[in-house]
Amino acid sequence: MRSARADSNARRWSTLYVSEIFYSVQGEGVLAGTPSVFVRTSGCNLRCSWCDSAYTSWEPEGETRDVGDVVEEVEAHDADHAVLTGGEPLLQPDFDELCVALDEHVTVETNATVYRDVDADLVSMSPKLSNSTPTREGAEEWREIHERERLNFDVIESYISSHDYQLKFVVADREDLEEIEDILESLAGYDRSRVLLMPEGVDRDTLRERGEWIAEVCKDKGYRYSPRMQIHIYGNQRGT
Ligand code: SF4
Repeated sequence: MRSARADSNARRWSTLYVSEIFYSVQGEGVLAGTPSVFVRTSGCNLRCSWCDSAYTSWEPEGETRDVGDVVEEVEAHDADHAVLTGGEPLLQPDFDELCVALDEHVTVETNATVYRDVDADLVSMSPKLSNSTPTREGAEEWREIHERERLNFDVIESYISSHDYQLKFVVADREDLEEIEDILESLAGYDRSRVLLMPEGVDRDTLRERGEWIAEVCKDKGYRYSPRMQIHIYGNQRGT
């Protein structure tokens, strides 16, 4: 647990662009199953084809809020964990202030294209594979940006060497596995037990079908398996 925030009613807080704050159960990664308050910022530098929070990327929406208000709302819930996610939360200029101000165990979920020395207990990186590249008509400009930015080895290695981390890959089909191996071969200093494979999908049947063979790959290759528990419990619903 980290240091308690300095509490001052007179303090002038910075702001964040926030799409939603909600209390749920972490559905993914090494902390799956942990009751957590989620703060979802809005805005992303990527445009994944299968993005499940398009309201923070393709069509970003939200409101500008004081960091102090956000902290207050998080702490109104009886949870020991906070998950700061997006969008891409590390694009928020005043994001560091939120991390420092929260008393909870803080997980930062990032696409690992931006490095900041954030005060986080866990940095959950999700580098994007080519299965995320947008192919829709009219998205040519974003396709180019996405391809240029989606993998940044320097950023990933910086988090590996500076933070507790996990590396989570979203897997849609078997061809993705070769790409993951190629990425890992180019990465220095990572621990294979912190690499997680998670099925792509926003419905239970797809996750179950993909999960069956991905679990076998994890057994064979020594990766960890990550569920998408929120889909199994709640379906693909916003704020869960
Ligand atoms: S990085 Fe995350 S939030 Fe951004 S477009 Fe991809 S899936 Fe959506």
